[in-house]
This record gives sequence, C-alpha cells and structure tokens, in this order.
Amino acid sequence: MKRMSIESVAKGFRNKEFLPSEITKILLKNIKKIDSELNTYISLFEESALKNAILFDDDINKGNYKSLIHGVPISLKDIFLVKDELCTCGSRMLSNYISNYNSTVYEKLQYSGAVILGKNNMDEFAMGSSTETSFYGPTLNPWNKDKVPGGSSGGSAAAVSAGLTIASIGTDTGGSIRQPASFCGIVGFKPSYGRISRFGMIAFSSSLDQAGPLVTSVNDAAILLDILSGFDSKDSTSVNLPSTQCYKVLKKGKFAPNNFTLGVPFELLGDGLDEEIRKNFEMLIKSLTNVGFKIKNISLPNAQFAVATYYIIAPSEASSNLSRYDGVRYGFSEDSEDSTLEEFYINNRSKGFGDEVKRRIMLGTYSLSSGYYDAYYLKAIKIKNMIINDFNNAFKGVDCVLTPTSPELPFDIGEKRNDPLKMYLSDILTIPANLAELPSISIPFALSMTNLPIGLQLTGNKLDEEKLLKISSLIEKEVSFDKEP
Ligand code: GLN
Repeated sequence: MKRMSIESVAKGFRNKEFLPSEITKILLKNIKKIDSELNTYISLFEESALKNAILFDDDINKGNYKSLIHGVPISLKDIFLVKDELCTCGSRMLSNYISNYNSTVYEKLQYSGAVILGKNNMDEFAMGSSTETSFYGPTLNPWNKDKVPGGSSGGSAAAVSAGLTIASIGTDTGGSIRQPASFCGIVGFKPSYGRISRFGMIAFSSSLDQAGPLVTSVNDAAILLDILSGFDSKDSTSVNLPSTQCYKVLKKGKFAPNNFTLGVPFELLGDGLDEEIRKNFEMLIKSLTNVGFKIKNISLPNAQFAVATYYIIAPSEASSNLSRYDGVRYGFSEDSEDSTLEEFYINNRSKGFGDEVKRRIMLGTYSLSSGYYDAYYLKAIKIKNMIINDFNNAFKGVDCVLTPTSPELPFDIGEKRNDPLKMYLSDILTIPANLAELPSISIPFALSMTNLPIGLQLTGNKLDEEKLLKISSLIEKEVSFDKEP
C-alpha cells in the first residue's frame, strides 16, 4: 500500500473501494514486517484495533459516518493515557504502568470513530530531539536508517512517514512535533497553547506542553485539529473556546497568496544554519514572492534567548512534575527489606530514570531552589514575556512568521548523544513558538543532496490556527512535495 492521507482513506470508504478492517490489516502487516527494524511502536493494540475496525466496517457499509476519521487507523505517542493499556512515556519508570483512565485526546478520537493502532516510541518523558533517550531503544529515520528521526515524537513521525499509520498524535514542548516532522518529511502541527486538552497527557513542562497531529497533509492537520480542539473542564489551562472549523474553510479555498504577508526574521538565520537548508529556504522565498505572497523582514530581538530561557523553564517544571515518581504509588519499584524510606526513593529514581531525565531534574531543582528562584526561574518567565511582545509587534505587520524548522539536516544516530548542549540547539527555531504559546506548523518543502527532507516552519498569531492553516495550504500547493522514503 502506498502511504495514504486521512482524506484519501475517507474517500476510499465513501467510494466503497475498501473497508476499515482491510486498511487496518494492511497496516498491521506492514508494522510486523518492518517495525522490528524501525522501532516506531512501543505497544500495538492488534486485537482491539481489528475488532473495532470490523465493527466500523458495518457503519461504513451503511454510510453512517461519525466523522471524517471514522474507521481511519491512527496511533498515539506513548504519552497519552488509554484506560487499561500500558503507558510508558518511553521510560523504565513507567514500563509496567497501566492507565486507569483515558486522556481527553484518546476519548475524542474514540468518539469520532478512529481505529487506535497502538502507541509510538518517544524520547523518555518527551525530553530529547532524537528519540534516542527511549528506554525501548532508538527509532530509525525511514529516509536513512543511520539517521535519527528527530524527537521527542520521533516514533510518531517515523511511523507516519513509513506508512505504518495514517496519522499520529504527538506532543510539542519545545519542538517535539515539528522537528521530527521535518526530519521525516511529513507535516507536524503544534496548535496554540491550551487549544487541545492536556488531560491524561503525561506532563513534562505544563506551561509549554501541547498536543498536535503528525500527518501527511495540511488538510489532515486541520481535520484532526477540528476533532481534538475545544474546551475541556478537566484541564484548567484549556482555552474556553469551541472546537475549530478549519477543514471546511480550507475546502472552500476562498483565499490567495496576495492576501498574505509573510515575515522572515533574517537576523535569526545567521551562524549555525546549514548552508543547504539556507539555499533551499532562500529559493523558496523567491518562488513564494513570484506567486504573490508579500515578504517582509522582521525582528524578534529576544528570540536569541529562547533556548536559554526554555532550559530554565522546562527543567524546572519537569523537576516538579516528575517528583511524583517515587515507586510508592506507581511506576518502577524495587522493594528491599532493610532500606530506609529515603534509600527506597533514591534506588527507584536512580534505576527508573535515564540520564537525560536525571539531568533535567537536577537542573530544575537547582533553578527552583531558594536563593536561585529569582535569578533563574523568575527571570526566565520575564524573558518569556518579552518574546511574547516581540511576536505581538511582528504580527502588527505580518500574517505569519517563516523560518526553516530545524537548523540542520537529520543527524547520525549517536552523533549528539553525549553532547547535550549540541542536542539542545536542535530546537533553536522551534522553541520561540512554545514560549510565546503560538500555533506553529512544519511542512516538508525540499530534499537535500543526500536525499533527506527539509521542513519549513510557519508560526501564526495566538489562536489564529485558521489563518495559519490557510497560508500553509497555499504554500503546500506551491512546493508540491510528494516524496516518500
Ligand atoms: N527537544 C526539546 C527537549 O528536549 C523539546 C522536547 C519537546 O518538545 N517535548 O526538551
């Protein structure tokens, strides 16, 4: 089977070309054939997926559609709770953890009739840019198996890219949807902070975490945003707005390039940007001008501090969120008769967490400790606000902000594993949108000479996903990237 979009699967159902159980069987077969090597899944819901797909066959035969994803196989990053199923978050700490309730994301997919295929591999607790920190081993990039797929939603991105699911839901705290989407040549979309409920999504950095789709087209991103968005009383940070209606707007298509001005922060695209990515980006800007987009140079003076700011805020919140894993209530727990309570905690946390997670806990505990709180955490929050102001100023003159998604091409497995600072710089272009709480999307637009995908990032104004997706869909048509690994 060639890789398919949600739209094309839904169309196939309507035209009676195939049924949910047939698509599900093909995907399960492909997973069995190639996933032992790619390692994109941590767990597979083989039985329940097939059972549900067969039930949905009946609905589809009768023309009873609950939604556009009715009968469509979709997978989840292993960070979303599904009742009575394993949820590991890529960690030894949760390697035996069975959820006792559902995430809102899962419930919305289920309610809409999706076939849930299983849970995708990820960096441990979503900390990483390469999916190498997973307790379950690294995921390989389907374009070149010596390369990382990006992270932390690398399992999701690689599975979509390799045709092992139709779509996957990931999370993005500093770039974890967009950067792997870019490395795997697919579309990855992080909506505005609060757009999609975080209920039942294991917390990394609560003020930055946001769920979103990894898919093969902008239309598919809109379909899933419309399904997953909307106020949820179980998440106090969920924005109090109804679900979006973006897909309809895109289908109407009543918009053109000359309606939009794109801002490019050229000052951010200096040293550290791969030359081939720069060349391709500049060529793209020219062709976008030719089709009628207006391009404007903009300034985001504080974005240069984004990575430093992020590595105070995210570890601080992580150190607090991860304090609940002590082996008493759930998670990895080793009992020993003669250990004190403190030794018991230390043993469980030392063995349950991997190195990167421990590094973040130490960084965060340090910057939250008395005497350092003002100097680090509080200052980082101030700079976060300055970055929000920078974007507010920019959006007075432009409709969205354009950059490459990643400053570099997919790198070799192992290349940065022992150099955390280098790894952290992978997210230099994605983090500003998280700090400013803005919707941001990565679209594949070119291939390098070495046959590796390059992603374009578009960032829109807060809660204006609709405009961002309109522009994205115009650009997607213009670049017409149709390559598969
Ligand atoms: N790579 C970044 C980190 O390691 C972002 C992770 C994410 O978005 N979850 O923290």
